[in-house]
Amino acid sequence: MSNESNRILVTRSSMPPLEEYLEEIAPLWESHWLTNMGREHRKLEAALRERLGVKNIALFTNGHSALECILEALQLPRNSEVITTPFSFASTTHAIVRKNLMPVFADIKADDFTLDPESVEKLITPRTVAIVPVHVYGLPCDVKAIQDIADRHGLKVIYDAAHAFDVRVDGRGIADFGDASMFSFHATKVFNTIEGGAVCFRDTALYPVLEQWKNFGIVGPESVVYSGGNAKMNEFCAAMGVCNLRHLDDEIAKRKKVAERYWENLADVSGVRTFQPAENVRHNYAYLPVTFEPDVFGATRDDVFDALAKRNVGARKYFYPLISDYERYRAIYASERTPTAVHAAATVLALPMYADLSLEDVDRICAIVKGVRPCA
Ligand SMILES: *Cc1c(COP(=O)(O)O)cnc(C)c1O
Repeated sequence: MSNESNRILVTRSSMPPLEEYLEEIAPLWESHWLTNMGREHRKLEAALRERLGVKNIALFTNGHSALECILEALQLPRNSEVITTPFSFASTTHAIVRKNLMPVFADIKADDFTLDPESVEKLITPRTVAIVPVHVYGLPCDVKAIQDIADRHGLKVIYDAAHAFDVRVDGRGIADFGDASMFSFHATKVFNTIEGGAVCFRDTALYPVLEQWKNFGIVGPESVVYSGGNAKMNEFCAAMGVCNLRHLDDEIAKRKKVAERYWENLADVSGVRTFQPAENVRHNYAYLPVTFEPDVFGATRDDVFDALAKRNVGARKYFYPLISDYERYRAIYASERTPTAVHAAATVLALPMYADLSLEDVDRICAIVKGVRPCA
């Protein structure tokens, strides 16, 4: 029998103990300083710099604003081309378009859903100025090949690292690659500040520009130098981050157990593929992507989605549709040019994944998946 109490959603936000949060925000009742780069904002910034092993970081109200802001701060020429992936969340392409740049979609790799460097290289024209790759599901891009292309063609690399918080490659923080990396601290991400985001960047000179952009271009009480927006992380969100960061190792350890249970359960099912990180990667277990090859598995991704939904288990067709197939973009782009991305969008399903998901629930979800028969 299905009912509300055994309903499983695809994700569940992590929260610190209430007392810990109350203690963190209590001083705000004395200072009455609620936003505009206050004590918690600066405290979180410093803690993240240390945790991520980066020199420069700027916090924002959300990851999307951080991405728009770094694109703007890099002063890429209007209408120039930016090579990116159609297999991502709307934010990645929207940010490029909203900053008056032209997205060009390259194909992805079948083994980890990230940009295929070969496909990227073929699309470079004299108008190309940057590459915006995505570390999809926290699986790192081929950072070396991408940097090599960027160096040879004089391109900027701005990573959408929204999924990749705390990931390391060969012991190196994921934000240490490229010119900049955006993180999202949205409620559904591995590390959250309720809503929030950040950008890490190589060129220290960008810091004042980013600070000004998120505060109307204001430099001093009587000085405004830039048509900035408003994207300041407030003190309550920053305090949430300060608390959640203390529990991050525990959070990721729990997620690892959940992921390993899924991988074990689904290991020998033909037509079903799971995605483990490479040996040199410290992963964050942000998502649990699984692909279903209908010819081999005997049922489609949509059949699996429907079977889970019937039993109150919320999976997510993530990412489907491709960005190039959105109403907004499909008249301009042809998805056939990125066949691997088309196939991924048709076969992938993100199964429920969060730290407190019980291993019994994982077993139950996997039993449903393995029992799926095609709908008539
Ligand atoms: C969540 C997400 C974003 C946007 O982050 P927000 O903090 O929600 O603005 C961008 N790109 C990807 C891939 C994401 O998953």
